Amino acid sequence: MVHFVGAGPGAVDLITLRGYKLLSEADVIIYAGSLVNKEQLNYAKKGAEIYNSAHMTLEEVIEVVKRAEKENKVTVRLHTGDSSIYGAIREQIDVLKSLNIQYDVVPGVSSFCGAAASLNAEYTLPNVSQSVIITRMEGRTPVPERESIRSFAAHKSTMVLFLSSGLTEKLSKELIAGGYEKDTPVAVVYKATWPDEKIYRCTIESLPQTMKDNNITKTALILVGNFLGNEYERSDLYNPKFTHEFREGIN
Ligand code: SAH
Repeated sequence: MVHFVGAGPGAVDLITLRGYKLLSEADVIIYAGSLVNKEQLNYAKKGAEIYNSAHMTLEEVIEVVKRAEKENKVTVRLHTGDSSIYGAIREQIDVLKSLNIQYDVVPGVSSFCGAAASLNAEYTLPNVSQSVIITRMEGRTPVPERESIRSFAAHKSTMVLFLSSGLTEKLSKELIAGGYEKDTPVAVVYKATWPDEKIYRCTIESLPQTMKDNNITKTALILVGNFLGNEYERSDLYNPKFTHEFREGIN
């Protein structure tokens, strides 16, 4: 059995109880060493075999799983944040399926949730934005043309950029070309929820310089949009005049 477990964004205790339990019982742990907090491996039981997938290919990961299966061992595949976001789990799942190996997926706290918490922010403010676009700049991994930053920018919604810290000159230009005002607020959250987390606030225009000045080249999220500003409307949900399923409004 293989359990894909979301490790959370960095802070050791931001793993789910279910993930923690599986991690502490696993015979074999394959963790994404480039981003998973190694201190979480202290949750492993004594004698667990531990592999860092940062140095491994998909084929090597599968070899470890196959060996574990032969010995009737339980494997935890520990992915950073939540494995549904840039986690490369689909390709692993498809191989496991073809090998008839059982698996399941345990969700995790994605770094985009960790970053919002660090900022005490709400992505979906009434009358500001009711949508969050999660995307990335095209790097070595291609992004379909129809998902260009420029086209998404036209919505002026909340935008969260993963994997884009090294590409902010182009990012900034594309965001402005697409429709955001150049003074739209931006927050860069470096290592959200880690002990060495850092937060930098700037605008779309000053983003590239902010990245340069602070030497941020990886492990950061770039959050864009007026949800970082000071204007919004209060929600209907908690408005005394608003009636809904659980509460009668007063007029
Ligand atoms: N599955 C992960 C994302 C993996 S892609 C998740 O749900 O968070 C790797 C990218 O995620 C990094 O380049 C960075 O953009 C972002 N990232 C991961 N952990 C982060 C953290 N603690 N703080 C800021 N960004 C993080």
